[in-house]
Amino acid sequence: MALFSQNLPQVLVNEIFSYNPLHRVCMKEVMVDLLLDHHKWNMAPVFNELMIQECDNEYCDELMIKNGEESQCALIFGKRYHFCCENCAGQGEWNIRYDYRKAMRS
Ligand SMILES: [Zn+2]
Repeated sequence: MALFSQNLPQVLVNEIFSYNPLHRVCMKEVMVDLLLDHHKWNMAPVFNELMIQECDNEYCDELMIKNGEESQCALIFGKRYHFCCENCAGQGEWNIRYDYRKAMRS
């Protein structure tokens, strides 16, 4: 959160924090429904491509919704990875860091 506050002007930070953060969590499902239901063209394939991906744990084939309620997100070496569950997040992050360390050794 400190990094977030440092990169934005104080006026914007104050505006953002004037809203209840719980409201964002509660409205997320409604906003996704509105986005998918009230569109002029059938954008389902596009949204699926943007929102559905395979778990970033290399040993898991699970398809999942990016930033979905059950998905886990981790920032590793400046890149955002999405995992289907907490177990995959732990294992996947360890594997990514292990591969990075291995690549740095040679
Ligand atoms: Zn997984």
